[in-house]
Amino acid sequence: VVDPRLQGISDAIRVVPHFPKPGIMFNDITTLLLRPAVFKDAVDIFLERYRGMAIDAVAGIEARGFIFGPAIALALGAKFIPLRKPRKLPGEKISEKYVLEYGTDCLEMHVGAIEPGERVLIVDDLVATGGTLSAAIRLLERAGGNVVECACLIGLPKFKDFYKLNGKPVYVLVESR
Ligand code: AMP
Repeated sequence: VVDPRLQGISDAIRVVPHFPKPGIMFNDITTLLLRPAVFKDAVDIFLERYRGMAIDAVAGIEARGFIFGPAIALALGAKFIPLRKPRKLPGEKISEKYVLEYGTDCLEMHVGAIEPGERVLIVDDLVATGGTLSAAIRLLERAGGNVVECACLIGLPKFKDFYKLNGKPVYVLVESR
């Protein structure tokens, strides 16, 4: 049985062809945020899954992981860890580079954000190649975190429902259109 809330979530995401460059089908979650009942459905589905999994920390990926991650963290009673783009964090930090279609990018995390062995959920809006989530997994594991799962609203068809990345499960609500 398919959860009827998933259709509402899929319908609330705007797909913008050729943004930010030709050939990219951009999945815009800002239209979902304008519909509080649908926004809540998305967070609720994650909470139904992660309540009872003893999550100590939710790590959100800049920038759209900062929208969904804190809502999940607060409801679970977990800490929130921002994984940021370079040169944003003021304290001592560790970094992890990853490859993009053209060039590389990097995620950074404050040293001491996580205690060794803490159970972490990583959150972002969308998984495409999985490069960003893989870098986030490496970053948290280097810091001693125990990555339980990655959660995204949207995934490419191969990521739909369930997929593994660096041996870690990726949980996705809807397929990208
Ligand atoms: P990837 O590392 O290839 O899995 O790309 C995932 C990251 O890029 C996420 O942070 C997404 O927000 C962003 N992203 C990649 N492709 C798209 C897309 N088609 N629409 C919206 N965001 C995207």
